[in-house]
Amino acid sequence: MRVYKLKQDLQAHLENVLKKQNTIGLVPTMGALHQGHLSLVNTALIDNEVVVVSIFVNPTQFNNQNDLRNYPRTLDSDLKLLATLKNSKVIVYAPEASDVYQGKIISQSFGFDGLEHEMEGEFREGHFNGVATVVKNLFEIVKPHKAYFGEKDFQQLQIVRKLVEISGFNITIIGCPILRESDGLAMSSRNGRLTQEHRKASPFIYEMLKAAKVKFGTKSANEVSEWVKNEFANHKLLALEYFTIANETTLKPIKRKNKQNKYRAFIAVFAGDVRLIDNIELN
Ligand code: AMP
Repeated sequence: MRVYKLKQDLQAHLENVLKKQNTIGLVPTMGALHQGHLSLVNTALIDNEVVVVSIFVNPTQFNNQNDLRNYPRTLDSDLKLLATLKNSKVIVYAPEASDVYQGKIISQSFGFDGLEHEMEGEFREGHFNGVATVVKNLFEIVKPHKAYFGEKDFQQLQIVRKLVEISGFNITIIGCPILRESDGLAMSSRNGRLTQEHRKASPFIYEMLKAAKVKFGTKSANEVSEWVKNEFANHKLLALEYFTIANETTLKPIKRKNKQNKYRAFIAVFAGDVRLIDNIELN
């Protein structure tokens, strides 16, 4: 498997790929890879002759310096995991920040029709400017035909779609379903930082989402939200940051149910000092 640290080397290789009329898929990641990431890579391998997996902990999307410092960096085991795919179509781009950013390592400012102000945007200031900056830079470096993002970060997925629209990239964005542990906890690079006690408690998050989905069939969004908040208020190990039922397209909190709209429940929870997010389709 080819591993590139420098964009100029990666681009030289990709030029040859393009000469053969092959398509390039991109899977951006921050490493500490798990089966959720691999599911994106596998989907990309079905669609493309070459798949670039970027592994880069992007400093500009962290609003909390402790979180950035503690974020797992496991390049050796990430490469071993990708090598298990035994697929020569996978190429890794694992750069330093200076290779991804020209000059200063700072975010650009974007407007995404308000998508960036909801949920994660409210609780993680500057997060989506950082995400969009790195994704835009990666798109310009790799020039993929298709790029793959997980529904685990559903708000990010919608913002990337908007980024493509407003920046005029000719890239198809593919959303991929959430992979879960057998007890329902959404796979995440952060799960490895959970204490045993918090790990045991955290499947409660998906249980609440599933219960909320059932309740949403007969109750108002307000009633469902109040119920979820109460359930967490009584929880000894998990602290709810937000639970929101929102329109899938606008990400605005629901006002009145309309059968024509698609809704999703979004949640962020602290398990000790580890922040976990998840979401579920409601209708
Ligand atoms: P990250 O390394 O956390 O930035 O994630 C890289 C990509 O993998 C993002 O598009 C995520 O949404 C996606 N991803 C992370 N966890 C999962 C999961 N459990 N299931 C599916 N996709 C995921």
